[in-house]
Amino acid sequence: MISYKTLGLVNTREMFAKAVKGGYAIPAFNFNNMEQLQAIVMAAVETKSPVILQVSKGARDYANQTLLRYMAEGAVGYAKELGCEKPEIVLHLDHGDSFETCKSCIDMGFSSVMIDGSHLPYEENVALTKKVVEYAHQFDVTVEGELGVLAGVEDEVSAAESHYTKPEEVVDFVTKTGCDSLAISIGTSHGAYKFTPEQCTVDPETGRLLPPPLAFDVLAAIEEQLPGFPIVLHGSSSVPQDDVDTINKYGGKLVAAVGIPEEQLRKASKSAVCKINIDSDSRLAMTAAVRKTLAEKPGEFDPRKYLGPARESMKQLYMHKIVNVLGSNDKL
Ligand SMILES: [Zn+2]
Repeated sequence: MISYKTLGLVNTREMFAKAVKGGYAIPAFNFNNMEQLQAIVMAAVETKSPVILQVSKGARDYANQTLLRYMAEGAVGYAKELGCEKPEIVLHLDHGDSFETCKSCIDMGFSSVMIDGSHLPYEENVALTKKVVEYAHQFDVTVEGELGVLAGVEDEVSAAESHYTKPEEVVDFVTKTGCDSLAISIGTSHGAYKFTPEQCTVDPETGRLLPPPLAFDVLAAIEEQLPGFPIVLHGSSSVPQDDVDTINKYGGKLVAAVGIPEEQLRKASKSAVCKINIDSDSRLAMTAAVRKTLAEKPGEFDPRKYLGPARESMKQLYMHKIVNVLGSNDKL
């Protein structure tokens, strides 16, 4: 058993309480590799933001969970080296699919886990989430539950259509399970293809696809049921068109990729939404930079020469999200 506390990590409890009160959201960035982690830590330190490092089951399979944990521990040391005296870094399991996966992460030094029972019948979701909470809380690890189903594809999590969270269920769910935060479905979606062209309207000026707006009425109804309770939004990348264009310009083929407009996420950040998950945008920034560099310098074969610009590009993206969308800057 390794406690996250010995790794210098923190859980989400205090962080979320401050975020809800302060009207901002904590960035939850997924990572699978060193350049991504460096970019996240640099961005968080430069903007003085708390940050959640998210690891999906796919990332654990890809990068190895032991290595990821040491990387998270390294992130704390690196943040200090960069001049942050008291970094607030969470290591969080994204979309835990079973009690066993959550337990193994808790035992290996994660400070927060998500148990995603949203695909299960309601009572089974309650029972599974409660079981994880009871285990996690013995070690002061915080737990995110989920109600409602998000559409889209993210690693091996996928659903054909979304079902909004039912506001009439949230109090019962939170009370019975004891979870510390709740992921809800109000129209965000996983991946870079969040909506089909049929679901979108076309912007007459730019010709770009405009996604359907988020269901802020559902969010408001949930907040009314659970005043001050930390709410989480998954699938909240904005799919910057510049990056999509760069990827396509240099040989890529991303057709009709659509994300959540940043002004809607800005609005959500000011509510009880206190954690916003962003993964696809960083993948796009990285891919765009790698494609551009390799296309412009076809003789280059030193990975540092194309992963370096990719890292810088991701760092700029993370800083932009922190300062201009989530508002979590200057909180350390
Ligand atoms: Zn998710």
